[in-house]
Amino acid sequence: MWKQMLKLRPTAKTFLSCSLGNGKSCSFWYDTWTPFGDLITFLGADEHQRIGLPLDSTVAQAHTGIGWRIRGARTQNMELLLIHLTETTLSENVKDIYLWAKPNGDPQDRFGFSDTWNMCRLSAQQVHWHNQVWFTGSIPKHSFIMWLCCLDRMPTLSRLRNWGIVEDDTCHLCEIYFETKDHLFLTCPYSFDLWRWCLRRLQMPFIDFNTWESFLLWLKSPSNEEKMTPIKLIAAQAVIYSIWHERNARIFTGIRTPVEGLFAQLDRRIRNTCSARHCILKLQDMLMLWFRTSTIAPPPS
Ligand SMILES: [Zn+2]
Repeated sequence: MWKQMLKLRPTAKTFLSCSLGNGKSCSFWYDTWTPFGDLITFLGADEHQRIGLPLDSTVAQAHTGIGWRIRGARTQNMELLLIHLTETTLSENVKDIYLWAKPNGDPQDRFGFSDTWNMCRLSAQQVHWHNQVWFTGSIPKHSFIMWLCCLDRMPTLSRLRNWGIVEDDTCHLCEIYFETKDHLFLTCPYSFDLWRWCLRRLQMPFIDFNTWESFLLWLKSPSNEEKMTPIKLIAAQAVIYSIWHERNARIFTGIRTPVEGLFAQLDRRIRNTCSARHCILKLQDMLMLWFRTSTIAPPPS
């Protein structure tokens, strides 16, 4: 792991900038103390011999106390550096300070984690369902399954059958229809019942989702009460996760849980989630919203 982290040194270096004081700790060739980045790259590896300044020199060693030791510009980059040095002075009683800086940006005295991550990673265009998958208060393992569904990467039996991995792609929940993504999570009679239980608890009208797109449209649609949005998203992701969990349990262990039992598990998980996130201001009403119909009888068949 440490070796992997050490490999990131060249990347990390691009975020460090030295604010010069006396120049005694700042490397003349390898630290970023001018707008041009490190000078070994900007001027070239051979330039230190021509100007007689060893590679381990500090910035202070490049200064005589009266002026800079560097003379004569043979290249355009050296000319730019000399122009910059005419406006650069050292302060004997001030220590050099290393600052965090975005590449080509102004140095800052604080570390910006999100800025740094966004600049290191390869990023793609934001997808339209982003806020329905990743949001404040979400349960990570639920969001992960939801994310795979939105990317259409779930290994449903119909997909495995198309790949030649299985021969039978009959849904293990209803044992009637083919197990496609839309069927398994939305239109399977078993899943259909779980959605009815959940929407009843949320005091929301029942929606007969037919496709994943129509499900996403419902998730995005504003609720009558604005404070319902977080619990609506958390409950919807919990339903998707529970269905996938039940499907796997039936395939790999043969254990079958009736929809009432699965809803009881889901109910307990959501209560625990609401309690754990009670300290987040905009999520404080979630527990009350989830509890307010907990005594109402199950939905009619
Ligand atoms: Zn089914």
